[in-house]
Amino acid sequence: MLAFYRRLYPYKSIFGWLNHEHAPTKRFTHREWAFTLPPDTYVRYQSFADAEDLKKQVCQLNPTRFEIGPVYSAKPRDRKTVRAANFTPQLRELVFDIDMTDYDEIRTCCSGADICKRCWAFIAAAVHILDHSIRDQFGYKHLLWVYSGRRGIHLWISDKEAMELTDEQRRALVGWLTVIQGGKEMRKKVNVRQGSKPLPPGIQMALEPLGPIFHELILLDQDCFAEEEGWETLLQLFPDPDVVRGLRAKWEVKPLSSEAKWEDVKNMTKAGKDQKTHDNIKAAMEDIVLQYTYPRLDAEVSKHRNHLLKAPFCVHPKTGRVCVPVDPSTIDRFRPERVPTVSQLLRELDEAGASAGGEAAAEHHSDWQKTSLKPYVDMLDRHVAALMDETRRAKRDAGPDRSW
Ligand SMILES: [Zn+2]
Repeated sequence: MLAFYRRLYPYKSIFGWLNHEHAPTKRFTHREWAFTLPPDTYVRYQSFADAEDLKKQVCQLNPTRFEIGPVYSAKPRDRKTVRAANFTPQLRELVFDIDMTDYDEIRTCCSGADICKRCWAFIAAAVHILDHSIRDQFGYKHLLWVYSGRRGIHLWISDKEAMELTDEQRRALVGWLTVIQGGKEMRKKVNVRQGSKPLPPGIQMALEPLGPIFHELILLDQDCFAEEEGWETLLQLFPDPDVVRGLRAKWEVKPLSSEAKWEDVKNMTKAGKDQKTHDNIKAAMEDIVLQYTYPRLDAEVSKHRNHLLKAPFCVHPKTGRVCVPVDPSTIDRFRPERVPTVSQLLRELDEAGASAGGEAAAEHHSDWQKTSLKPYVDMLDRHVAALMDETRRAKRDAGPDRSW
């Protein structure tokens, strides 16, 4: 692990991403870092002057992983010397966490810690929807998606307006984006409308792209309603007992694919139903599409500025995979099992050193360039360049006063 931190971890890129400009600002120097040290020590309130300082400490402590917190009103490592009232979170990226755990009850291909190409499609769908919703509804531009190293994905939003959100505003924003609620014991998890009234506009907008996803992923690929447990769950989402009885009578005697069952549901909205029954079935169908495909967010992660989240490019202790940035436009083709592991990267580095005749064995700052980590660091660097451009523009427009 130490070799990874000494030779491959992209400190400079991470610094630029958190700091938004080249010279260190409070966005970096007042930023909390937390280290997980083996076997199970957790060290909070660390802070660093610059990328070099961070590297020095990481290499000295050799943590299993580290996390990034908010920018405080004072340097976190000095917090004991300032009064509690003068040590408060000021800025923080708006973060989201989507994890396969929340899809366990609807995926049929894997269970537990397993993940495959097929169930990754749930995460891919969530990324599509959330990326568009956030850009369209909130106008944020600087979104960084990061694979968690195992079976989830994080989103970090670095727009100035997002960084400045208070906890209260974060709660409101997350509430706006939360559609799926309730644990395992709760059958119906979508309660975003009154009766059979239309959906709120933001969710109605998301529903359109979810239609094809529902068809491909839920009906065809996962075939969620093929088995009795699956279709009983489906039936419980319809409010009208007559509808449920009719469908159950048919499905009990004849094994049908999920697609055929959904056709049966669609047909219930036609043939001689009164308007109210029709509207109820329609509303239930929309809610079902949402329940099976809308992003399932771990809301607690997003609500508080001082929630710590694992830093990009850390290594997942169970899989050995690096938490790499992911391009949302190609998320469908992303394969978690192809993400480089730490041992693979170190091997690549050795091979590069051997072929360069020992000269390259010396330690360099950008050794990641010689490995398959390169496209991922390049992705972060492009993201950082856009952030720095924005900061430069904002400073130029604001004139000489620049407190942050
Ligand atoms: Zn799977």
